[in-house]
Amino acid sequence: MELSEKHIVSLRELLARPRLRIVIVSHTNPDGDAVGSSLAWAEVLRSLGHEVLCVVPNKYPYFLDWMPGIDEVVIFKTDAEGRARQAVEQADVIFCLDFNAISRLEILSETIAANTAARRVLIDHHLQPDAGFDIAFSHPESSSTCYLVYRLVEALYGREAITRRMAELLYVGMMTDTGNFAFSHLTPDLFRAVADLVEKGISIPEIHNNVYNAYTEGRARLFGYAINRKMELIEDGTVAYMSLKENEMRRFQFQQGDSEGFVNYALTIRKVKMSAMFLAHRKFIRISLRSRGDVDVNLFARRYFNGGGHKNAAGGKSYLTMEETIDHYIRSVREFAAEGHLG
Ligand code: 5GP
Ligand code: MN
Repeated sequence: MELSEKHIVSLRELLARPRLRIVIVSHTNPDGDAVGSSLAWAEVLRSLGHEVLCVVPNKYPYFLDWMPGIDEVVIFKTDAEGRARQAVEQADVIFCLDFNAISRLEILSETIAANTAARRVLIDHHLQPDAGFDIAFSHPESSSTCYLVYRLVEALYGREAITRRMAELLYVGMMTDTGNFAFSHLTPDLFRAVADLVEKGISIPEIHNNVYNAYTEGRARLFGYAINRKMELIEDGTVAYMSLKENEMRRFQFQQGDSEGFVNYALTIRKVKMSAMFLAHRKFIRISLRSRGDVDVNLFARRYFNGGGHKNAAGGKSYLTMEETIDHYIRSVREFAAEGHLG
């Protein structure tokens, strides 16, 4: 991965100004990569003397509660005092981390779009980013935004600038976005970065345990229910889907983040090339898509569900009922297969 020297120079110049008011925003349903990269980048900016606030549209999952500094992240949805709105209105610079289009901020989009004076900097690894950023570090070949932030800090201020605390935060995103170093974009340089984080003193078993072994009993039982009762296979067993309605989620005391990993599980079946999860929200259905190898779910999500993401992990939304959404999925899969996209 090569970072643009021109962009590095522009960013270094921008950050050399004294006492900037900076807001870092990340995507709706923030995950380990979103929160980890935001908090680590915030620390770097604060060490330069800037005033920084991290904002996310809605709550991150509870298994990230232990992350150093997470209490300072302002959740826009429940921000009664309007701290986030005020910080965004007054910001000199807005950093957009781990997403590629302002619309991905959903309830926060309008507020961000309203500040037209701030410089906007994108640091992201999703495919096909929107235009309109003053500086864009868009690297779909990076396995996570955390790895991108690592490389950015290295290029700007050297590896010495990375503290142990930042190392912990960055490791979370590197680990979660690669499915614990099992997916694509696993370059030698990524492992060299991990080695550096280990040298900074992070404990990999501890971080792993904090993130992956911290679920509730309800989540474990919901997982069993979803796999046993709700997983369906179509297209001769090569395509899977699963759905959860609100009453089913309530039955297992569902909390945000509890369905994490469900969609991946169908891909443990040898024949399955593509998997979908439909999760009911109050006003719409959120869709998660995963695939193996050459099957491009970014394309599928863009075409059929008004979404996007990465080649092997993408998502979208549906405003139809659950039954209609599933029908639409099955028909779309058939068309996608007929065009040869499922190999
Ligand atoms: P997840 O299934 O983990 O929520 O999302 C998988 C990937 O797809 C993530 O990288 C996420 O940012 C992206 N993604 C999820 N939903 C949407 C969406 O509605 N629109 C776009 N453009 N990307 C999405
Ligand atoms: Mn990410």
